[in-house]
Amino acid sequence: MIILVVNTGSSSLKYQLFDMDDHKVLAKGLCERIGQDGHMNYKTEAGTVFDKDVALPDHGVAMQLVIDALTDKEYGVISDMSEIGAVGHRIVQGGYLFDKSEIITDEVEAGIEELCVIGPLHNPPALVGIRACKKVLPGTPGVVVFDTTFHRTMPDECKYYAIPWEYAEKYHVQRYGAHGTSHRYVSERCAELMGRDPAELNIITCHLGNGSSITAVKGGKCYDTSMGLTPLEGLVMGTRCGSIDPTVVSFIYEQTGMPVKEITDMMTKKAGLLAVSEISGDCRDITKAEAEGNYKAHVAREMLLRSVKRFIGAYAAELGHVDAIVFTAGIGENDADLREKVCDNLGFMGVKIDKEKNNCRGQEVEITAEGSEIRTFIIPTNEELMIAMDTQALVEAM
Ligand code: ADP
Repeated sequence: MIILVVNTGSSSLKYQLFDMDDHKVLAKGLCERIGQDGHMNYKTEAGTVFDKDVALPDHGVAMQLVIDALTDKEYGVISDMSEIGAVGHRIVQGGYLFDKSEIITDEVEAGIEELCVIGPLHNPPALVGIRACKKVLPGTPGVVVFDTTFHRTMPDECKYYAIPWEYAEKYHVQRYGAHGTSHRYVSERCAELMGRDPAELNIITCHLGNGSSITAVKGGKCYDTSMGLTPLEGLVMGTRCGSIDPTVVSFIYEQTGMPVKEITDMMTKKAGLLAVSEISGDCRDITKAEAEGNYKAHVAREMLLRSVKRFIGAYAAELGHVDAIVFTAGIGENDADLREKVCDNLGFMGVKIDKEKNNCRGQEVEITAEGSEIRTFIIPTNEELMIAMDTQALVEAM
């Protein structure tokens, strides 16, 4: 089966076309600046076919241009759009309504719409993507795969905040987590690499990118995760502050009169590594500045290391026993120095990594040293493949 995976943002549309016989990516690319000046790229096995400015007044036009490229006589990878067996959509917020991936129906669409209150930045554009797809590919089944469903198995003591129940009951205030598709993919892949049944394993998965989260996976299911009601909770991130004393918000408000929305915006877009280093939210810039002796860059980097170590330590304590630790996403896959510094501190719980094996980027590799009690892996994440696999399974069972 051929499956198109679509990830729609407010002004972008990422796509990948999979041949599920061998999980090969036939083509992929990105439409960006939709509704603005428009830009699109298209890549196949042969490399980048085009990367150009193009009029993209709305997501519908972008979707049509994706189909046109995929079926183009000269550089297309399929001859007709009817070859696409299904479309899988990434949805960020599945909230309290969705516990698994679903075939798109009117009811499912209405559910995603209802959840726009708790996913205001991501769910509205995802709905636009679903509708654009339905128009361009009428009759092709669609599936939605949510970033949050993997975390729905958290026990109540992890899922809820210690505030009066009425806020959870009336307003659905609870921890939903994020990056669930990535945590699921890398934890399943880790079990596969270990030749073990996920049900027998406790794994701590570290998705460290611009946005970062760490998850405690117990017996193949999420037990706890660092992100909360929104992706602001947890680790120190590129531009997000992560967990802080919540009264910081009211205190800043009382001192400055700054509206709460602006304070949230500051904590989301102008905080984290960017704020502390005063240089950049990009880990590479910070590492470079730290090496040049910049003190604030050093503090930013240490804060990142501290938060990664704290969550791994906390989850090891919660799980009681850890079989494996996995690093993934931009920083997790590429930053050997961070992995080494984090793992060096975990020696007390039996983690020992092989520094030579660790000295690599973006490869799927086990970096466990001989004699280590816990195995450590770098596993490049592949959320798109996970979405395609869910899509195939649901459509074949229709
Ligand atoms: P997103 O959350 O936007 O998907 P990514 O997973 O792409 O983010 O991660 C982006 C982060 O990965 C940035 O902080 C970047 O500095 C970091 N990164 C990418 N490549 C490297 C590298 N070679 N060494 C260290 N960090 C890297």
